[in-house]
Amino acid sequence: MDKKIMVTRSSMPDFEEYCNEIRELWDSRWLTNNGTKHRLFERQLKNYLHTPNVTLFANGHLALETVIEAMDFPPGSEVITTPFTFASTTHAIVRCGLKPVFCDIKSDDYTIDERLIEGLINDKTSAIIPVHVYGNVCNIEAIQQIAEKHSLKVIYDAAHSFGVTYKGESTANFGDAAMFSFHATKVFHTIEGGAVCCRDEELAKKLGYIKNFGIDGPESTPYIGGNAKMNEFQAAMGICNLRHLQEDIAMRKSVVDRYRMHLTGVEGISLCSEQAGVAHNYAYFPVVFHPAQFGADRDEVFHTLAEHEIMARKYFYPLTSAFECYRGTFDPGRTPVALEVSEKILTLPLYSDLSLHDVDRICDIILSCKKQQK
Ligand SMILES: *Cc1c(COP(=O)(O)O)cnc(C)c1O
Repeated sequence: MDKKIMVTRSSMPDFEEYCNEIRELWDSRWLTNNGTKHRLFERQLKNYLHTPNVTLFANGHLALETVIEAMDFPPGSEVITTPFTFASTTHAIVRCGLKPVFCDIKSDDYTIDERLIEGLINDKTSAIIPVHVYGNVCNIEAIQQIAEKHSLKVIYDAAHSFGVTYKGESTANFGDAAMFSFHATKVFHTIEGGAVCCRDEELAKKLGYIKNFGIDGPESTPYIGGNAKMNEFQAAMGICNLRHLQEDIAMRKSVVDRYRMHLTGVEGISLCSEQAGVAHNYAYFPVVFHPAQFGADRDEVFHTLAEHEIMARKYFYPLTSAFECYRGTFDPGRTPVALEVSEKILTLPLYSDLSLHDVDRICDIILSCKKQQK
């Protein structure tokens, strides 16, 4: 029996490397609150991303909630976003007291369909929160134009897109702000962690206060903040993992190339189209199964893989607009492309040290599900 293959597996630095990185914390006993590792990691990220401001967080979700909160949108105002995303994006909007308005996605890269955004704007709209889903870059030029025309803020959920560039520029630098997640399952991680990147110096300062109880000095607390700080051990993990990121992405690319070799052109299977001008991070490998042509549906493929101890993931299914907690609030039928993709998509196992032999085996099993057309 082959070993169980999970959909993802965290990249780890050498044990020794991490130990060396955290050694001085035993001497300094400075474990959190903007210590030396935190400051070093922040500087390294600014360099790596070529971005002026990086604010680190305990996780990506709190980073997103905090930047939405910091923008002081009118309570109850509307935010245009997509339901084809992780729970976090929609929940962050709702938890900040705002109303998500769902825009459909495009069927080739699953990002927000920019042609549909203006039809959703009204006088209550305050922001657009698009998602660079799977590391695919949204149409940032069109979105920027729409936002400027209607005076809306743009906050990118860039959780999937660390290491991705468009025309040579990191996704950190698009919109009014971009949020990264450094969760253990992401391409680049700090165990748990996240960041907000923004050009506006004042916004960056405010984020720094809000993530630390709103405190800006021993006797001064200008904001009603919470606690969303990254600690020194997380920052140390980030420092280690950043050293190996390019190598990791290159290994992921060879896995993705192998998947594409087997699955490109198979009748009834759609893969993400490659985007012009984008250097990818190969974060995920989503596959859409069209049962009429493939002869088997997504769930059949999912179960057959599971029988072989291969854990693919229905990512993203269901749509966030179909969650129980939002029952009666949204109509998933309003975003028909997203609804259809969510019912047909499967994300295949992908991590840097997944062997090409395993990829071959996974693809053999998938292709064995294909039924001959009568
Ligand atoms: C992972 C993720 C988040 C949340 O990040 P955490 O670090 O897990 O809190 C938000 N949005 C998307 C699209 C994600 O995949």
